[in-house]
Amino acid sequence: MMSANPYRQASFLTSASRTSQLPEDSLSEVAFAGRSNAGKSSAINTLCEQKALARTSKTPGRTQLINFFTIDDQGRSLVDLPGYGYAKVPENMRREWQQLMESYLSKRPQLKGLIIIMDIRHPLKEYDLQMLQWCDYMGTPVHILLTKADKLKTGAASQQVMYVRKAIKEAGYVASVQPFSALKKTGVNELKKVLDDWFEFGTQDESA
Ligand code: GDP
Repeated sequence: MMSANPYRQASFLTSASRTSQLPEDSLSEVAFAGRSNAGKSSAINTLCEQKALARTSKTPGRTQLINFFTIDDQGRSLVDLPGYGYAKVPENMRREWQQLMESYLSKRPQLKGLIIIMDIRHPLKEYDLQMLQWCDYMGTPVHILLTKADKLKTGAASQQVMYVRKAIKEAGYVASVQPFSALKKTGVNELKKVLDDWFEFGTQDESA
């Protein structure tokens, strides 16, 4: 039987620093991207109900890794993409990140969708738009988590959600948008619904 939260079973599979190292046993995956410090690790840990599954590298300039977490024995996995947007990162590392992201997004047919994490107070920065553009080009579905929603009052948070939806539409992209808070654990069910849909949980009988 499927557990109430299949993401609780997430466990580290492997890391890749080049697309040649991407694991072949990951058959369907959902990736998480976001500016450094936006709250990506906290969102993954909240989703998986684990304290330190995804960790933040506070060191800019460190080797950028794509981390894979297995969630079941059907080859489903969550993918933690390297954070972007460190102000002090040298140009060559920026280019490396761009190449890694571009080749990951374009060479991964098993990628079902991308979750882009943005701080609700600072959405749609340069690299966020870059990710949206690549996904649009590749036809990869995108869901946006506006996290740290607890930092704003309820009214201001919903205004930000509406603003981001409108801006995305005006830019010609398609993406769903929701508020989220790892601190207050709000928005988790909405996120799970998107993932369940992309992973096709519940659409087939897996109890056999
Ligand atoms: P990452 O670099 O994107 O993985 O970001 P982290 O998950 O490490 O979070 C960066 C900082 O933001 C940390 O100090 C977190 O405690 C804080 N943070 C993350 N999510 C939330 C949230 O939902 N609410 C609040 N108030 N702080 C958060």
